[in-house]
Amino acid sequence: MDHAGYMRAALVEAEKACALGEVPVGAVVALDGEIIGRGHNLRETLKDSSAHAELLALREAARRLGDWRLNGAILYSTLEPCPMCAGALVQFRVTKLVYGAADPKAGAIDSVIDVVRQPRFNHRVEVVAGVLEEECRHILQKFFRELREKKTVGEMAELVEGARLEIE
Ligand SMILES: [Zn+2]
Repeated sequence: MDHAGYMRAALVEAEKACALGEVPVGAVVALDGEIIGRGHNLRETLKDSSAHAELLALREAARRLGDWRLNGAILYSTLEPCPMCAGALVQFRVTKLVYGAADPKAGAIDSVIDVVRQPRFNHRVEVVAGVLEEECRHILQKFFRELREKKTVGEMAELVEGARLEIE
């Protein structure tokens, strides 16, 4: 499977988040051609601000491998990771990150800061950006458009409060 194939699996995760009323971000971890971790944003469901797709996928991969070192692993995320998840990529020793849409307001890879390619950290992550970018951005735009429409009729107001991420 190529990068786009794995990104489609991450998009399937994003759809699961969407179905729960969560901001649709999905991630998978691939190692040796196999998906060993999957995650989708569950911040509202779990009332946990750290329950991001990437972090959940990395935790599952480490659990499955029985090792916190994910050497050789590739994380696919539909959205450019935030500082917390970018930090986790370094901590879990992930070899490569492939992401879809950039996050101009919170991205910690190319947009706001670069956490994963700091020469002074003991581990650096290779980056491939913009894989299935259109699809990855579209699902977010659709979510926020629908959220705004519902908001006008007074529904899902609580969700809006939690949804800091706005991609126009
Ligand atoms: Zn994150």
